Amino acid sequence: MYRINEIFYSLQGEGYHTGTPAVFVRFSGCNLRCPFCDTDFADYKEMSAEEIVAAVKELNPKLSTLNSKLSTLNSKLPTLNSTPSPLIILTGGEPALQVDDALLTALHTTGMPICIETNGTLALPDGIDWVTCSPKLGTRLAISHADELKVVLTEETNPEQWLQLIQAKHHFLQPCSCQNTDQVIRYILCHPQWRLSLQTHKYLHIQ
Ligand code: SF4
Repeated sequence: MYRINEIFYSLQGEGYHTGTPAVFVRFSGCNLRCPFCDTDFADYKEMSAEEIVAAVKELNPKLSTLNSKLSTLNSKLPTLNSTPSPLIILTGGEPALQVDDALLTALHTTGMPICIETNGTLALPDGIDWVTCSPKLGTRLAISHADELKVVLTEETNPEQWLQLIQAKHHFLQPCSCQNTDQVIRYILCHPQWRLSLQTHKYLHIQ
């Protein structure tokens, strides 16, 4: 069983996949206590891998039984079969505390790409299609590669330090809780290896 805080369908708000539809699976619990953490992940309900997959499928408009019924009733509805699938984004808290081979195998039956947002302090199982590592100050990384490195800029952060410690194809720098955007822009203009990541879901007031 897995401790799940919430499962919902929305747009990815930040980083490389900004604007991409995704089913978010938020795991309860984290091994860190960042002072700026703005995620409420304490509550949870226990779910099996099969229950999680069923919830993901129900939220994915390409797979849900609701969409199938509507399409049957109204042939003018656009077919979704040829469109790209929404992502599954495993997030938290720290999803690597709970994600294992059994859950990944079950989630792969949906045919949806599986992404994870991790602080990088725990080893990851194989079978994840996209790794976003958002490392935190004063921690030791357990992974050395990621698809995307996303660093939250605070007064104490040295972004270049993380470039030495983790290899990633994409490097994003993000304001801390939307507060220091000007500082992040100035930093990126002087360090063009970084790209700006905004928490667009907060500006748009979506989940
Ligand atoms: S690693 Fe992420 S989820 Fe965990 S405490 Fe820090 S900001 Fe919150």
